[in-house]
Amino acid sequence: MINLVIFGAPGSGKGTQSHLIAEKYGLYHISTGEVLRKEIAEGTELGLKAQEYISQGHLIPDELMLHVLEVVLDLHTDEEKAGVIFDGFPRTIPQAEAFNTLMEKRGTPLTVVIGLEVRKDILIDRMLLRGKETGRADDNIETINERLVVYENQTAPLKEFYEKQGIYCDIDGDGDVIDVFDRIQAVINSKL
Ligand code: AMP
Repeated sequence: MINLVIFGAPGSGKGTQSHLIAEKYGLYHISTGEVLRKEIAEGTELGLKAQEYISQGHLIPDELMLHVLEVVLDLHTDEEKAGVIFDGFPRTIPQAEAFNTLMEKRGTPLTVVIGLEVRKDILIDRMLLRGKETGRADDNIETINERLVVYENQTAPLKEFYEKQGIYCDIDGDGDVIDVFDRIQAVINSKL
């Protein structure tokens, strides 16, 4: 079983790489951003709440996010037998602490956290292009700038958190999708 977190700034390619990893290693892919966007599209109570935060480039409160994650994990236990790839979670130190406790309790501790390192100007270009191509509402320059600030302040400290646990590996996330995927596979294969 492999349980991995794909980590990186918004626009670093977490979603794209997660799909490739999930397919290759038979892992269940949980993107908390996707879960929330689906709730928004369906107009649920959670979606309405999430939209307020997402549209401003802010994070959903930790307690709510943890609750959503637990519900999703419990719904798909059959598909999670080979392991799970967590994409966009955790995003704060309190989330990571609660996540450690949760995964220990489930007997499925994290194997590795893979960080995608991408330069800021490339992140911005990628998100602007994605906004144009997909119409994703938070991929506009104002919200992008806010998301990058939030990332630096609240999410980037997780690198050190996981380095201390000895499970953080970062790779160059710039360049061709397949080249990045090759680097990721080298990390995962070294953990099998
Ligand atoms: P993403 O698709 O991962 O870029 O997430 C899109 C947006 O969903 C983020 O900018 C946050 O507003 C929200 N979100 C996703 N995952 C989390 C999380 N783990 N904690 C708080 N907010 C989140």
